[in-house]
Amino acid sequence: MNHLIRNILKVVTVGLMSTSMLLTGCQSSENADPITRSNLKLGTLVGITIHDSQDTQLFNILFDRLDAIEQHMSLNIKTSEINAINASAGIEPVQVSEDTFEVIQSSLHYGDLSKGAFDSTIGPLVTLWGIGSDNAKLPSQAEIDTKLPLIDYNSVILNIEDKTVFLPLQGMALDLGAIAKGYAADEMYRILDENKVNSAVINLGGNILVKGRKVDNTPWRVGVQNPFDTRGAYIGVVSISDQTVVTSGIYERFFELDGQRYHHILNPATGYPVNNNLASVTIITSKSIDADAYSTVLFASGLEAGLELANGSNEIMAIFVTKDKKVYVSDGVESIFELSDNNFILQ
Ligand code: FAD
Ligand code: MG
Repeated sequence: MNHLIRNILKVVTVGLMSTSMLLTGCQSSENADPITRSNLKLGTLVGITIHDSQDTQLFNILFDRLDAIEQHMSLNIKTSEINAINASAGIEPVQVSEDTFEVIQSSLHYGDLSKGAFDSTIGPLVTLWGIGSDNAKLPSQAEIDTKLPLIDYNSVILNIEDKTVFLPLQGMALDLGAIAKGYAADEMYRILDENKVNSAVINLGGNILVKGRKVDNTPWRVGVQNPFDTRGAYIGVVSISDQTVVTSGIYERFFELDGQRYHHILNPATGYPVNNNLASVTIITSKSIDADAYSTVLFASGLEAGLELANGSNEIMAIFVTKDKKVYVSDGVESIFELSDNNFILQ
């Protein structure tokens, strides 16, 4: 299928999923209708809905900020800072803006926390596989072997004072696809907060961050995506306020060859898609950058290590769905999550 059409179809699917993921219910009749704007950003459909203000000018500020983040961190924009860092790998450090530096710094922290299962220097392997693009292919072992020595988040050199980033080997490449959407969602929250908005929903292609509560002072209800259904079906609902819900899974970007599915979360040690019994991991926490990173970290770590990480953290809650439709939850989830699809079994 033509790449452009496939991308549009993906966006439509994501758009439908996002809308039906939110089960917000009706607003009180005393309140004006919420205002909303949607746009394609960061390779996905971004929707922001404000429930307690009629100031549509805010959308210009919000979407300008998203533009700036995209200009800095997108691999699809030739002049981005990330592409400048990658082009200077093995040659020289590159000075970047505060936001790019902060996201890279955070990505390296998640490398440590996951013992390397999360590695933002995964770029050469992401390009080799091309999963999610028209160039998706099963690489040869020899091709993978040439890329593996380039994947090493530990070797990235940051200079905090000068805000420079240096990749020491030519061919190394950063990819912030697992973390930057979370950062962008937090920036949307910050801007809404500065502008005294207390009731809003930020939706970055299904990564949800809610501000405050609904105008009737009840929590937001957000559906947890069914990883076996791309059309917005949810397995259950979490009730949250001032929190974020982010999912990583095998259903987001993948291709199939000879009956085998190859998805987009790669194992930095083997160079192949992470191969475990998980279909998806959903994180609930307060900061979306953490939710985005942790969803990938726990997916890449697998059920056992992932549950241990979640239960060892005071910050996050996690919902794991396995390929055989079992649902495992970390401490605290039971009080906010209702499983509604009885094809899934809560363990
Ligand atoms: P996540 O689980 O959060 O992340 C998976 C992604 O992280 C993979 O796709 C890969 O990029 C990377 N990754 C894989 N394995 C690992 C690992 N072990 N450790 C760390 N990272 C790993 N997509 C487009 O199609 N077109 C665009 O124009 C486009 N622009 C973008 C601009 C920006 C600034 C960003 C951040 C992303 C952009 N994307 C674009 C990508 C897309 O929107 C998603 O961010 C991406 O596909 C993964 O997000 P996810 O939530 O689906 O999965
Ligand atoms: Mg992620």
